[in-house]
Amino acid sequence: MIFQGRLIPRLEVLAAHLLTHLAALCSEKRCALCAAPIAKNALRPPVDDSADRTPRPPENPAGTPNHAHGQGNGAPQAGDLGICPACLLKLPERTSGFCLRCGEPMHPDISAGLCGNCLQNPPPWNNFYFYGVYTGYLRELLHQVKFSQGLHQAGALGKLLAGRFPDGSTGSTSQYDCIIPVPLHKRGLRRRGFNQSVLLAEPVSEKLKVPIRRDILAKSTDVGQQHGLSRSERFKNMQGAFTSARADNLRILLLDDVLTTGATLRSAVLCLLRAGAERVDAAVLARTPGS
Ligand SMILES: [Zn+2]
Ligand SMILES: [Zn+2]
Repeated sequence: MIFQGRLIPRLEVLAAHLLTHLAALCSEKRCALCAAPIAKNALRPPVDDSADRTPRPPENPAGTPNHAHGQGNGAPQAGDLGICPACLLKLPERTSGFCLRCGEPMHPDISAGLCGNCLQNPPPWNNFYFYGVYTGYLRELLHQVKFSQGLHQAGALGKLLAGRFPDGSTGSTSQYDCIIPVPLHKRGLRRRGFNQSVLLAEPVSEKLKVPIRRDILAKSTDVGQQHGLSRSERFKNMQGAFTSARADNLRILLLDDVLTTGATLRSAVLCLLRAGAERVDAAVLARTPGS
């Protein structure tokens, strides 16, 4: 009896301990990119890749987002993003020194300028949003998403892009009626099995409280890979590559993974405007440097 009397309370204590550990294990956050555990209350390291760390310019006429996303500014922290501080350090956000219309990296002193391409041939979109330069870890991760089906990583990267937008208003007062991820051609979609732009758009849709619409824009031409083509070849290749259902009076946020020359986005935006869209903004996760 004495033995039983001791054993049962011990078993209960053991079970309670096990349950606590199990709960801790289940609630432990792990980095969506490298699977390292994320400490509770882990802060987001203040990293940007603009060379001189100058403050961002004041609100500009081109409407490029000026909301700085450092600590203390209501920016999502490491835990909220599902990304550990070590990975965030390798994913610098571009906060100054870029073309306001297309994100082309520029000297940090040119804080509110346009690149030569945009001056000569202004893009058809209104505002432009992007997270960082397509290089290093960001490039590596996007490659993994596209070619190794890193689906869980795409959601985390989408959260980084979502952080570039001011906090969402309700759907009815939002500045957008819908978010349109740049579609793949149906053959491309069959090959890959998913559209990475849709995965990136989901956290943005959640933040802005604006629905994703995949029934408006379609890629009608399978243009294949654009790698290795010159700038003018890319533009020629993308002409008429999209078709659109009526988009009358819609205010649209068009979203893609990477902007290289802008040929894809230009073609898609023009198609939506021809279909009656009132306004189209563009957002990409990453901007290729020097193109
Ligand atoms: Zn990590
Ligand atoms: Zn530009």
